[in-house]
Amino acid sequence: MTDDSFAPDRPATTQIHGGVVPREAQNTVATPIYQTAAYEFDDLATAQAIFALEKTGNLYSRNGNPTQSVFERRMAALEGGVAALGTASGQAAVAVTLLSLVRTGQHVVAPAQLYGGTIDLLTDAFADFGIEVTLVDQDDLDAWRAAVRPNTRAFFAEGIGNPTATVLPMAEVAEIAHAAGVPLVIDSTLATPVLQRPKEFGADFVVHSATKFLGGHGSSIAGVIVDLGTFDFGAEPAKWPQFTEPYTRVGGVVLWERFGREKSAFLVYAKTKWVHDLGPSLSPFNSFQILQGIETLDLRVRRQSDSALAIAEFLSAHPAVSKVNHPGLPDSPYRSLAERYLPNGAGAVFSFDLAAGEGAVATVIDSLKVFSLVANIGDVRSLVIQPATTTHSHLKADQLREAGFSRATIRLSIGLEDVRDLIADLGQALDTVDASIGKD
Ligand SMILES: *Cc1c(COP(=O)(O)O)cnc(C)c1O
Repeated sequence: MTDDSFAPDRPATTQIHGGVVPREAQNTVATPIYQTAAYEFDDLATAQAIFALEKTGNLYSRNGNPTQSVFERRMAALEGGVAALGTASGQAAVAVTLLSLVRTGQHVVAPAQLYGGTIDLLTDAFADFGIEVTLVDQDDLDAWRAAVRPNTRAFFAEGIGNPTATVLPMAEVAEIAHAAGVPLVIDSTLATPVLQRPKEFGADFVVHSATKFLGGHGSSIAGVIVDLGTFDFGAEPAKWPQFTEPYTRVGGVVLWERFGREKSAFLVYAKTKWVHDLGPSLSPFNSFQILQGIETLDLRVRRQSDSALAIAEFLSAHPAVSKVNHPGLPDSPYRSLAERYLPNGAGAVFSFDLAAGEGAVATVIDSLKVFSLVANIGDVRSLVIQPATTTHSHLKADQLREAGFSRATIRLSIGLEDVRDLIADLGQALDTVDASIGKD
């Protein structure tokens, strides 16, 4: 409807339709927030073709939104992928990706050292769904190999781990996944495409919590899945019926034949099944905020990563600190992996242990003035937390030990403040501990 002839005695129709020109381009430089729940089709035949996946087009904002589409195309380009799918959160990106690959009675292999929400998904929600999971030590390639079963359908890992900044031997893990005929999914939240492009090391799908560095300002929850276009679901079609057999909900289309690798049959399925059914859709407003964040991504990530290394060096020389988990330090067990996998920097999230033990953690954290006590990472603000009692509080003592940290560990996410102010802030907080220990 485009008729906006105004009838002063009958405002109801005009107050709804007046002034609206559907599909009118406004030549904006910034991507507008298309705040709409639905879209007007040209005609019924077009609507039918879009529903039948014969034509692409805007339909309903649970499935997609023009602001979100710009974010998706930008992320596909940054990761070197064929397509991307925005989701309501990083958590949704992980869940939708794995649910698209793995069904009830099938199996996932992943490291024990993963983001806490992913561990909850894998070990609790997936148990409810009858999806089996083997958690391995990510540094132990034999453990990855030994975990493979005939019903394995995905390997999942993080390029940089949290809170101890572990570095994944990604190419080696990808090779084991491919020998088993399954894709490798990489959560690249901590690396971002600035520090690592998982495609270069054999990964097949990338997920991000866009809430973190992509958005970068701690203002919006969002996630994204990128199909790197490398995995061939047609090589063993019987293993992947969701892509290679008729998709009954859309007129029996075989997604792999219609969309294949190049048009991402995988993401068509992920979107039309799991995002459609479960509803973790990205809002136009949050898409806009993440897009604006991405425009300064490399400036922020490089500076934050450089500051993090300088701070790690400062901490490793401080007597109140017993250990610093940063792969850029000469004594890090991940140093050589970092040289190969993270030549542009190891990121802004790392952790350190207090020599005085867990009893001193509260004193240090509560003494910090520039760092904020926040359960988030990737913000322009510098953030601090004790992971063992907050973000990772689901881990038991032996799991903490296996993951390489303890209740004496403090995690930092370095922001964009002047690094001299950050070092001074940590210095004064650590001095407080020395003073309070002296008094006891
Ligand atoms: C935060 C985070 C997630 C979850 O993302 P949300 O946007 O909080 O849902 C997943 N993986 C990693 C590595 C994260 O840091």
